[in-house]
Amino acid sequence: MKTIYLNVKCISFLKALCSDNIDRPVGSTGNKRAANIVKEELEFLGWNVETSEFDVIDWKQSGAKLNVNGSELNVFVSPYSTGCSVKAPLAIAESISDLEKNDYKDSVVLLKGEIAQEQLMPKNFVFYNPEHHKKIISLLENSGARALVCATGKDAALAGGVYPFPLIEDGDFDIPSVFTTEEEGHKLAEHAGHEVTLTSCSERIDSTACNVVARKGNPNKERIIITAHIDSKKGSPGALDNASGIVVMLLLADMLNDYKGDYSLEIVALNGEDHYANPGQMQYIESNKENFENILININIDGPGYNIGETSFSFFNLPDKLQKSAKKILREYPGIVEGPQWPQGDHSIFTQQGKAAIAVTSKWLLDNSEQDITHTENDEISIVDCRKLVEAAQALNALIRKI
Ligand SMILES: [Zn+2]
Repeated sequence: MKTIYLNVKCISFLKALCSDNIDRPVGSTGNKRAANIVKEELEFLGWNVETSEFDVIDWKQSGAKLNVNGSELNVFVSPYSTGCSVKAPLAIAESISDLEKNDYKDSVVLLKGEIAQEQLMPKNFVFYNPEHHKKIISLLENSGARALVCATGKDAALAGGVYPFPLIEDGDFDIPSVFTTEEEGHKLAEHAGHEVTLTSCSERIDSTACNVVARKGNPNKERIIITAHIDSKKGSPGALDNASGIVVMLLLADMLNDYKGDYSLEIVALNGEDHYANPGQMQYIESNKENFENILININIDGPGYNIGETSFSFFNLPDKLQKSAKKILREYPGIVEGPQWPQGDHSIFTQQGKAAIAVTSKWLLDNSEQDITHTENDEISIVDCRKLVEAAQALNALIRKI
């Protein structure tokens, strides 16, 4: 396939997915539009396409206000929080033991310091949920607090590049919450015991969304499953995370159109990697639970094409022979290197079941955990290099035909 054709296709898909810098959180207008683009392209190419809808909570907000002793502090609505209008005394919690021993009934609670270091995993998040997170959530739910103000710094590992980060991002957690910087938290802490007024305009919206699944070949044969998540974080155009991965997947679908190999191919645009409930991932796991045995390998594409550095292919549980031929193919593509294993992606759905996987991303993202792109408004089209997306698709095409 001519490189110029692939480049043009790549740019136009990237623009279509990120047009006007509209975000694609699950259930939003931009998300539905993106799913439709993927569905139409795969149908146009002649793949056997299926979508199955699920219910999801979307969310909108129009800001929050916090006033204490005549001054106003700068706060942001926590994603997927309920709204509130509360006038109550301020109390402070800095640790689990504070929550255990103090009375927070009918207070507005400022969470700061040690307790606010890591983004708390959503209540019903199954893939990773440490005991101390569950403990904090349950203590808060039983505290009788009217609302929460979370003063945070940065948590690149769990919350990406945003500062401050939302300590709570959970549509299943019902105490209204806002978040703010550590500096504002220090100022607010001086008013402990005083009455504060917190107004937050925030609303949960019932919506629907879908995964897009496309197949080729005999579905009873062992499957090669190619995944990329289609959703973005609320407020982020998500060019690199992960419009670029979806584009590689669509280019690959075009290249593999004449595939006549020994395996069944399945392409899946998963809808929910950046949503607190991972709804698309949960639906995919549920609909495959009797069917994991016939998976040969997952190829997950998330975050490729950053304009600095190489594309990274990371290998998980690969049989020796496959690993050898994968490494050989990589040597033919100067812009691609073998990278370290990283867990935070949809390939973990497969690797946690002991399946083989290859995860594709930008090496720069793995080398720079302290960055301010992921999940922010800086993640826009100008940072993506289409030539790298085309190269990644070409290497994956070669690799799949070698399997
Ligand atoms: Zn991602």
